[in-house]
Amino acid sequence: MTLALGCIADDYTGASDLANTLTLAGLRTVQTIGVPADDLVLPEVDAIVVALKSRSIEASKAVAASRAADRWLRARGACHVLFKICSTFDSTDAGNIGPVMDALRADSGDAIVLVTPAFPQNRRTVYQGNLFVGSVPLNESPLKDHPLNPMRDANLVRVLARQSASAVGLVDLAVVQKGAGAIAARLAELAAGDAGAAIVDVVEDSNLEAIGHAALGQKVSVGASGFGLGLAQALLASGRGAAGAPASGALGEPIGGPAACLAGSCSQATLEQIARAETLMPVLRLDPEALITAPNPVSPALAWALERLPSGPVLIATSATPDSVAALQAKHGRDKAGHAIEQALSAIAAGLVAAGVRRLVIAGGETSGAVVDRLAIPAFLIGPEIAPGVPVLRTAGTGQPDMLLALKSGNFGGPDFFADALKLMP
Ligand code: ADP
Repeated sequence: MTLALGCIADDYTGASDLANTLTLAGLRTVQTIGVPADDLVLPEVDAIVVALKSRSIEASKAVAASRAADRWLRARGACHVLFKICSTFDSTDAGNIGPVMDALRADSGDAIVLVTPAFPQNRRTVYQGNLFVGSVPLNESPLKDHPLNPMRDANLVRVLARQSASAVGLVDLAVVQKGAGAIAARLAELAAGDAGAAIVDVVEDSNLEAIGHAALGQKVSVGASGFGLGLAQALLASGRGAAGAPASGALGEPIGGPAACLAGSCSQATLEQIARAETLMPVLRLDPEALITAPNPVSPALAWALERLPSGPVLIATSATPDSVAALQAKHGRDKAGHAIEQALSAIAAGLVAAGVRRLVIAGGETSGAVVDRLAIPAFLIGPEIAPGVPVLRTAGTGQPDMLLALKSGNFGGPDFFADALKLMP
């Protein structure tokens, strides 16, 4: 297998978002969970997205996992590797975008890396290095209250410089609009100074292909799904990548049986989606405090679900408003609270699967990661798109009957996301 593109995603929902984008652009794509074992059989594809759960772990561990994924992808012929981050640049001053970028750049031998989380069709744009979420700067968006990585600075040149060992420059819109040659020239100029990374302005999707072409002259780049789209377009335009039938054709037979939804995301979008789901299905709102302190918090939730599943889908949520999240974190610590809640939701998912549920909708990036790990799923085929950035996924290589999953990053999906997902997961 010779890969046109290798990708390393720092969380699982981001990985399926990227795999979805690459598939829609025409690259045959598969998503693996972690670096695959040698005996995992994968279909012939143009792109592999290795999903890690490295966004919020210790930087040194994120670096080690990303380097292992990079080695695996390059051993399969990937000439270019995209380190896929969140389109809202989710990170802290301790990392992990900067440290991983530094390590991948060092391993690749490149002098400088192009970086942009922009994806205009998803309302993420970058201008003069400042990230906008819709019409507001990042630090005025709901991301300022994220439970794990509150984003309080919109200037990505500054944000990345705090995380990277090297200086960070800017490829501004005026250069981007001149095309790939001008971007490459500006990059060389910045590298000749002391910059090891450059934030790239993007205000419309047409900017992405030029950036993709410029990036293909490099071995590594850092970005969100928009950068993936630019790379896919550039690869296909230059005759690399088969532009064959998308892997979504391979989703196969309906799965049937009971279906359940779990939500650990506290994003505004998810809170609205849960409120909407309440009009359609039974919803259990768990007490997050009890999930951290009670001796066996999972059994009552499972019993509640198992009683109702024969009549239709159910939703179990820990999601809460920013005030309640802040209060819980003040009492128990951010990481302890987040981890305990993720573990509880993934234990509930495992209980549901043991009881015969094979269709699961999960809201929350970290939450999805915890669930997929707990279920020990090695890889996914990419199915139809539920909402921008969220495909239906079919498990591959588990040795068990297949399952359908939808993994939704907090801010994604329309108000009826849970119902929309279940409709596409027969
Ligand atoms: P998103 O995709 O919206 O960022 P994540 O699942 O990645 O969602 O992150 C949400 C984090 O918040 C998880 O660590 C989750 O366990 C935690 N969490 C969920 N509910 C609560 C709550 N009520 N209070 C505090 N933290 C919570």
